[in-house]
Amino acid sequence: MPVYLDNNATTAMRPEVLAAITPYFLEDYGNASSIHWFGQQAKAAMDEARREVSGLIGAEPSEIVFLSGGTEADNLAIGGIVESQKSKGRHIVTSRIEHPAVLNTCKHLEKQGFDVTFLPVDADGLLTAEAVRRAIRPDTILISVMHANNEIGTIQPVDEIGRVARDAGVYFHSDGVQAAGKIPVDVRALGVDLYSMSSHKIHGPKGVGALFVGKGTPLTPALRGGGHERNRRAGTENVAGIVGFGCAARLAREDLADAMLRTGELRDRMESRLQAEIPDLRINARNAPRLPNTSNVMVDYAEGEGMVISLDLKGIAVSTGSACSSGSMEPSHVLTAIGKTPGEGFGSLRISLSVLTTDDDVDRLVETLPGIVERLRQLSPHYRK
Ligand SMILES: *Cc1c(COP(=O)(O)O)cnc(C)c1O
Repeated sequence: MPVYLDNNATTAMRPEVLAAITPYFLEDYGNASSIHWFGQQAKAAMDEARREVSGLIGAEPSEIVFLSGGTEADNLAIGGIVESQKSKGRHIVTSRIEHPAVLNTCKHLEKQGFDVTFLPVDADGLLTAEAVRRAIRPDTILISVMHANNEIGTIQPVDEIGRVARDAGVYFHSDGVQAAGKIPVDVRALGVDLYSMSSHKIHGPKGVGALFVGKGTPLTPALRGGGHERNRRAGTENVAGIVGFGCAARLAREDLADAMLRTGELRDRMESRLQAEIPDLRINARNAPRLPNTSNVMVDYAEGEGMVISLDLKGIAVSTGSACSSGSMEPSHVLTAIGKTPGEGFGSLRISLSVLTTDDDVDRLVETLPGIVERLRQLSPHYRK
């Protein structure tokens, strides 16, 4: 059996989720906008999913907009605020370690004449609320800071940033794709106006996500079409996907405390064993609040891609940096932002667990990786030991 330890890239759909969505392809295939029985079945199922997804983050069902995933949620949040607020100002505050869905949206806006402050982070990937406060100007219209980082797992002080945003009267978006369903999230306590989520990172189907839009937050829609999702996202809803997301959100909420404890223990044990077995292995973001399922490790003189490929040949799936940047030899922007040199960045490995990860999976990795690192180090002309 292959071992899957790349759960920050995507997760396996849980069997309960597959069972929940199947009828919506085969029997209850109605369009939720139709007034007949088929349509009403679809609408009722979506209402239920909306309750589950809003419940996962402490929101009202009416504040949830279903869309195609985390990328679209980030694009709609930023683009929607910018469109509605651009007459008031053209400055945005974000961080250097955002997901490309936020980073590239902001870079695109820069080309359109917006001014973007990309705040630096410390060696563990942390941003302070004070740094955000200092970056705010009279023409700032949006702050976008992710809740938990997909590569190194750092959890930002979003609640403190939320207070800063509120005090300054600036809209606040947080990319919560890696946080919602993995750690407790309460959008009121966090003080966010917009919060992005994705189903496939929490054992739901791919191609569906949600944007929390707090009551009264002005958001210009990106798509022109029908009045779906309270005029915030046009297009016939992905009913089966939404039902699956709702089911995954319910399971994540029910299992949250157990899952955090179990993946956290499994991860910590894995890290200490790897440190004991592999000389000079370092753990990134170790001193910051961190997602319990995420481990980003660095070894000298063994190249990340080489480790990933060697592990893959042994049936173990992990990643270097973020999945989106694999295939290109650019060092990860996150590792660069926490001060790693390109050489160090190339020797990094992201190992991400889930509720479905077994002790056996971790044992296989811990038994396999040390030999691979040793072999790659022996091949490196710079390694002397
Ligand atoms: C995966 C991910 C996204 C993109 O979500 P998709 O549903 O795959 O489009 C956005 N932000 C973060 C932090 C992610 O990990």
